[in-house]
Amino acid sequence: MTFEEITKIHTELDGQCQKCHQRCDKRVVSMVADDDDSLLMVCPDCKQGKERPFFKVSSNIAEFCSQYTGWNMNQAIQYLQFIPLGITLIHHNENTRSYWNWDKAKHIFAMETDHMGNILDVKYYPKKTKGNRRLKKEKNIKLKNTWYKVVSDRESINLKRITVSEEFKASPPSSEKVAKNIAYFEKHGCFEKPVILEKISNSKKNSYMIIDGYSAFIAAQELNLRVLEAMTVLSLIRTEPSLIKSRQ
Ligand SMILES: [Zn+2]
Repeated sequence: MTFEEITKIHTELDGQCQKCHQRCDKRVVSMVADDDDSLLMVCPDCKQGKERPFFKVSSNIAEFCSQYTGWNMNQAIQYLQFIPLGITLIHHNENTRSYWNWDKAKHIFAMETDHMGNILDVKYYPKKTKGNRRLKKEKNIKLKNTWYKVVSDRESINLKRITVSEEFKASPPSSEKVAKNIAYFEKHGCFEKPVILEKISNSKKNSYMIIDGYSAFIAAQELNLRVLEAMTVLSLIRTEPSLIKSRQ
């Protein structure tokens, strides 16, 4: 049987051994004849006619798992004993076996055991600290020496709500640049670079001021778009009201 054929069967079976249901990478599976001569895809244990080992965990490894997950020691031990059954056997070497997992919710990234089932090493997904999470939640960007807090990476904003500062109006983009934006939009259905809009009022109807992507905004006007996909931000310093003037 060719590797391509095995790959196809492996995909159809979702990588599960047809005898014990261990999830396996296609590199470790074998095709064996069943009693009625039909072919079965099996894991290395079933191929050798062996039972899967019962996994045993040292106190050091359990302790680390307990610290990482916040579970008590018993929960950590139970989890480590059973997790190899739920993740993928990827290597089956002479003395060791490795498991990989792609689901971050399961915490474990990789695990190595011997064939007796002793867990030798466990690698975890990098953990986000509380600080990191806060940083990610409150993303800040710097534009023209001013810091902004990102409200939304992508939001549809009605063009009517967008105002242009006198500063931008004083230096309009070249018609060539606008034409390039129009051409890009017509081809891709979006602009090459996101327009960045600063939220400038918290009244019932929000209004926005362009702080980046003026040429895309003009292109959007020329394309008669009703809305613009934009990144919206809030200034981390107070905006001078005099700078804000409605679009004609
Ligand atoms: Zn099996």
